[in-house]
Amino acid sequence: MSTIDRCPGNDQQKSFTIINVTCHACGEINEVYSDELQKKQTCDKCSVELKVEG
Ligand SMILES: [Zn+2]
Repeated sequence: MSTIDRCPGNDQQKSFTIINVTCHACGEINEVYSDELQKKQTCDKCSVELKVEG
């Protein structure tokens, strides 16, 4: 067996993308991070809950 040295900081390299979600109520385009899609997303402008597909 070999020991793998883990470099501190590697875990911080998360890959994510920004998804543009258009608010169905006011048309505002909200930028949502792909790693936050599990959370409830609301429109920055009118606070309506966004429906994120994917
Ligand atoms: Zn809105």
